[in-house]
Amino acid sequence: MSNFKIEKSQATRINGVDWNNLGFGIYFSDHIFVSDYADGKWDEGKIVPYGPMQMEPTNCTLHYGQSIFEGLKAFLDVKGGINIFRPGKNAARLNHSGSRVCIPAFDEQKLVDALKELVKLDKQWIPKQRGQSLYIRPVVFGTDNFLGVHASSTYRLIVITSPVASYYAEGLNPVKILVSSEYVRAVRGGLGTAKTAANYAASLLAGTLAKKAGYAQVLWLDGVSRHFVDEVGAMNIMFVIGDELITPSLEQGTILAGVTRDTVLTLARDWGLKVSERQITIDELIEAHKSGNLKEAFGTGTAAVISPVGLMHYNDTEMVINDMKIGPIAQRLYDTITGIQYGEIEDTYGWNVHVDL
Ligand SMILES: *Cc1c(COP(=O)(O)O)cnc(C)c1O
Repeated sequence: MSNFKIEKSQATRINGVDWNNLGFGIYFSDHIFVSDYADGKWDEGKIVPYGPMQMEPTNCTLHYGQSIFEGLKAFLDVKGGINIFRPGKNAARLNHSGSRVCIPAFDEQKLVDALKELVKLDKQWIPKQRGQSLYIRPVVFGTDNFLGVHASSTYRLIVITSPVASYYAEGLNPVKILVSSEYVRAVRGGLGTAKTAANYAASLLAGTLAKKAGYAQVLWLDGVSRHFVDEVGAMNIMFVIGDELITPSLEQGTILAGVTRDTVLTLARDWGLKVSERQITIDELIEAHKSGNLKEAFGTGTAAVISPVGLMHYNDTEMVINDMKIGPIAQRLYDTITGIQYGEIEDTYGWNVHVDL
């Protein structure tokens, strides 16, 4: 395991945390991991106190958005120690995202080692209640100062950690989502497969309008025909039609390859469910709903794990799914994944990276 330089904070901010109202991404732990890239290589990296950073007005990321991020979680294992869920997948995806926006790759094992050191140092920040966790947010961005458009020659990687409740205020209660027929998130050949700041900027207007209209999230359709279902804001989407679990395939190159998506597909296949990764149109969903075959719909993502969809609104069509209740497959997936994450269910897949305390 790498030995990172650690500069400990003089004081802790932990006494200001309201553990019963953590929300999502409101509190930040005492330390961050930082590594800088210059002259063609990343430095050794170090752990330092969380705090403000200096930046010039011409920081290129402010102007041109050369920024990527990740999101994963650490859990207190009921048998002791800490479980970080599938961090190697996130490290690999960070480099995939980087390759799309000219950000140099970071050593994946070194990043996982840095996460282990960081969560160990700030172990007091990992919340203790079931459902709570320590959210880990790596972010990488250009740090050159200039105004001409080109890729930065220097970069900074930061890892922030944040104690969180579950993502949705509604918890596991099904949410209402709005199918956007006006705005799109990504097109083939664009940034859809990368976890970039720009994708989120592109989603904010539709998301804000949806919230105003009473919906929790936007369901995006493909950017060309606007018939094929892509994904939800920060989640992949899955449907149970008849006895088949269906999720949009990655082949079109417009959606993000979610770690939770992969986890769900692996479990569902091992359970013997009929699983299809394929294109699915909004019309097929409307037909399935009409005929009573649309049994379940749910989003998958690190923040919410499984987020059941109780209602989908598309133009003039309103589809209520499973009487606005969570369905049996969504429930079983949620129970199994969270059970593995908290060490209650045996991790036969080797998904947890365990940190002894
Ligand atoms: C992060 C993200 C997801 C979910 O990915 P997980 O690895 O499961 O957390 C899905 N879609 C988008 C657009 C995302 O940014």
